[in-house]
Amino acid sequence: MKKVIIVGAGMAGSEAAWQVAQRGIKVDLYEMRPEKSTPAHKTEKFAELVCSNSLRGAGLENAVGLLKEEMRQLNSIIMESADINRVPAGGALAVDREGFSQYITDKVKNHPNVTVINKEIETIPQEDDAITIIASGPLTSEVLAKSIGELTGQDYFYFYDAAAPLISKESIDMSKAYRASRYGKGTADYINCPMDKEEYEKFWQELTTAELAPIKEFEKAKFFEGCMPVEEMARRGIDTLLYGPLKPVGLEDPKTGKRPYAVVQLRQDNAADSLYNIVGFQTHLKWPEQKRVFGLIPGLENAEFVRYGVMHRNTFINSPELLRPTLQYKDRDDLLFAGQMTGVEGYIESAASGLVAGVNAAYLAKGENPVIFPEQTAHGSMCKYITSAVAKHFQPMNANFGLMPPLEERIRDKKLKKQKIAERALEFLAKFKIDVLKLSK
Ligand code: FAD
Repeated sequence: MKKVIIVGAGMAGSEAAWQVAQRGIKVDLYEMRPEKSTPAHKTEKFAELVCSNSLRGAGLENAVGLLKEEMRQLNSIIMESADINRVPAGGALAVDREGFSQYITDKVKNHPNVTVINKEIETIPQEDDAITIIASGPLTSEVLAKSIGELTGQDYFYFYDAAAPLISKESIDMSKAYRASRYGKGTADYINCPMDKEEYEKFWQELTTAELAPIKEFEKAKFFEGCMPVEEMARRGIDTLLYGPLKPVGLEDPKTGKRPYAVVQLRQDNAADSLYNIVGFQTHLKWPEQKRVFGLIPGLENAEFVRYGVMHRNTFINSPELLRPTLQYKDRDDLLFAGQMTGVEGYIESAASGLVAGVNAAYLAKGENPVIFPEQTAHGSMCKYITSAVAKHFQPMNANFGLMPPLEERIRDKKLKKQKIAERALEFLAKFKIDVLKLSK
């Protein structure tokens, strides 16, 4: 039996180590803190929450709530600690951050199958008697990042994430929006939201005065490189957007036969055609402000944001080009990636991908075949998305119902629909747990 080397004891690495160790396999867990830290970590503890202490939605009407429930069913150490260290936070699951990380540190460190080595890993490990998981996170140390970039090729390796918001297609009001491509070229791939002069001016006013998210000190140098936030572009003048992302030429509205004053375009984001991104809207606005201001765009009044726009330092790979849904590297069976590095976004998503990588590393260590989680589950849908999205436009993704296959029956009530998708996910997981993972509890 091989051992498993895990690089990084963050959200993903801690969960992966637990899953491997619980399956009776030895783990060497490398963590560079406290010897060397990242610009965001402040302690030497495992699974440190670098910012908010909220793990977001708790209920099953929320995809990240479903992801949490699936993790509980799969004996996650992150969820065990979250439930023990819960603090009141309405519909969200928030935790006492010290207690949360301390519990995980103690459990993982004291596991008889885990050896913790406080050392910075500089090159991707490759040993005959080991399976490796890279879970070094969005702030991977520079030398290791270089080694990963050399493996993947620089075109498939990113240091910065500037993503426009993503919205679910079903939440777009198509009585106002319309399909068209500029000058009618090719198929009508884009959904277009038209604005008249009054609507545009109101939107511009709100966009230029909306509240921004704070920029971390270590992110400042990168902030405006290459990719300008939409609010910053707007601040250059009231007409600037009309010559940029809101340019209306060639986009006549079929309902009126006329060219609108301004047009916001939405581009398809996933193969299932359930998610659309707002073209050119990378933004640094606070999340509630994105909902308020972008909700002024005709057709997006009730838009469901499955991921808000972000602009932050992030180390991630182009998983659609590089990974299999088992989270194995395509060109190396013995190498897996997990966490934010794979292009999932968020604490829980990172931990869940660590769970998948841990389960599969354990199979590989035993000389068995790795498994693909069913796409009907939140875990499986996330792994499927990051490994099959359009590689050219790949951006990190939160868990969301739009990633899961539609239900066979058509349900109009959105709340009921989410409930049914969640029920289906847990049914598929229960079967997968017994039939494939052979777990009795
Ligand atoms: P991490 O939890 O960062 O774990 C990676 C570990 O690898 C770290 O312990 C690090 O010290 C170690 N490491 C790095 N390089 C090496 C090396 N060469 N050798 C050995 N060890 C190494 N998500 C949310 O849901 N809510 C938030 O509020 C939130 N805020 C964020 C704020 C910032 C500043 C950043 C950067 C990200 C934030 N995220 C947030 C996104 C993401 O969910 C977290 O970063 C999450 O911790 C990612 O989990 P991970 O396991 O991939 O990485």
